[in-house]
Amino acid sequence: MSQSFAAPAMAPGAPSAEQWGDWRWHMRHRVTTLDKLREWVRVSPQEEAAISGTAGKYRWSVTPYYASLMDPDDPLCPIRQQAVPAQGELLEFPDAEVDPVGDMFYRKTNRVVHKYPDRVVLLVTETCPVYCRHCTRKFHTTDVEGTYFRDNEGGGYEEDLRYIREHPEIRDVLLTGGDPLSYRDEKLEEIISGLRAIPSVEIIRIGSRFPVLLPQRVTDEFCEMLARHHPVWLNTHFNHPREITPEAAAAVDRLLRHGVPVGNQTVLLKGINDDVPTMRKLMTELLRIRVRPYYLYHCDNVTGVSHFMTSVEKGLEIMEGLQGHMTGFGVPQYVLTTRIGKIPISRPYHEAVEDGLALRNYRGQTMTMTGEHYRVSPPGE
Ligand SMILES: *Cc1c(COP(=O)(O)O)cnc(C)c1O
Ligand code: SF4
Repeated sequence: MSQSFAAPAMAPGAPSAEQWGDWRWHMRHRVTTLDKLREWVRVSPQEEAAISGTAGKYRWSVTPYYASLMDPDDPLCPIRQQAVPAQGELLEFPDAEVDPVGDMFYRKTNRVVHKYPDRVVLLVTETCPVYCRHCTRKFHTTDVEGTYFRDNEGGGYEEDLRYIREHPEIRDVLLTGGDPLSYRDEKLEEIISGLRAIPSVEIIRIGSRFPVLLPQRVTDEFCEMLARHHPVWLNTHFNHPREITPEAAAAVDRLLRHGVPVGNQTVLLKGINDDVPTMRKLMTELLRIRVRPYYLYHCDNVTGVSHFMTSVEKGLEIMEGLQGHMTGFGVPQYVLTTRIGKIPISRPYHEAVEDGLALRNYRGQTMTMTGEHYRVSPPGE
């Protein structure tokens, strides 16, 4: 049985616990207008200007669940900044592009992005429960005019499945979008069964932010469906400790109890999580609900998103604040997403010296290890 949670007292329209627990109710009651937002928070003049300024250009929608996490009095609240349009989305930034990581270049069919030999992305949909203001596929999800899809996304999956079948080197398929869980279970199971019918596909991965934006979507029935098609993995996208609620923890627990390992991909966002205490708290709280931190993405220079970018220097400083200060598996890998793939970056903890390695630890203590088993070639040799 799924646990049920009461709606928070300030929820407009006083939904019943049954309504609050029903993901379809949330989808039907999403916040998409200034007036609706006003039922949740004291909207700032900047937010109001951004909502009208981005109207007709970028999609905007917030689930009542995610809106309930907003601080009604603080426009800089990390939840609000991720969900409410900002004027920064309309500014022009040097070198910003709609697709800096080259998804469109590597797209082989309407939905298949094949960049690495053994794994592909399947762009299932362009729909999301909340249109995150920092979405790296903003052109696909949030841009009213843009989408990577050539034709209507309602079209069949034959061409995409055929491509995967004809490339037996593909052993790992990552369903993303948009958010695949926007589809109903039956539709998702059709796609997953289609993939399972391809012998060379070993693992199926789902990228979904529903555990964060609308955890009620992760029902027992949905998890049972996934369990019929194992091995299935799911990566979600928590960016701030305030997103780790009892509802989110319960959704993660349902996935884990059905044998679906849950990982997390965080985006480094200016003014939201770009400091060591927030990141440490996020990673330790994730471990507490048994979510394994996977990647920390440097924010891409995507048109409409660039105002969230921090420096790589900042990212490295945060990694130094995590590495060694907490359990190793609580430390994500910091990566830059580029046209040539994801590039892990970190400050080195070792340096080649004559006959061995000079080492340092997280506290700045140093030592040297020498002898034939510690010798490495210096860079460039
Ligand atoms: C991120 C990504 C993947 C998966 O990469 P992993 O490092 O295996 O998680 C696959 N294809 C594309 C195009 C990607 O951007
Ligand atoms: S849920 Fe994911 S794909 Fe959808 S808008 Fe948010 S970041 Fe983008």
